[in-house]
Amino acid sequence: MNRSPLDMTSPMAWARIVRTQRNTMPGLYPMFLYMLDGAVLCADCVRENFSEISGAIRGGSEDQWYPVGMSSCAEVEPDSLTCAHCGNGCATW
Ligand SMILES: [Zn+2]
Repeated sequence: MNRSPLDMTSPMAWARIVRTQRNTMPGLYPMFLYMLDGAVLCADCVRENFSEISGAIRGGSEDQWYPVGMSSCAEVEPDSLTCAHCGNGCATW
């Protein structure tokens, strides 16, 4: 299937958006990925581990690197969320 660059509904699109934009526009709220194992990855860790993430998507491996959604700190209680990789919370992303 051919996906347009503006597609915002695929796992690869979510990973690319969080990796490159980091923050919502407008609002500048930090964005993050929800992963298949229920964990959350902040933008810094998405960038740092992008090869694992894109590999999981391309390979269809559906492991802990597989994104199932994206959101931003505007949508959650900031204290309720910590990145599974760096351990930092929404407030410090
Ligand atoms: Zn992180």
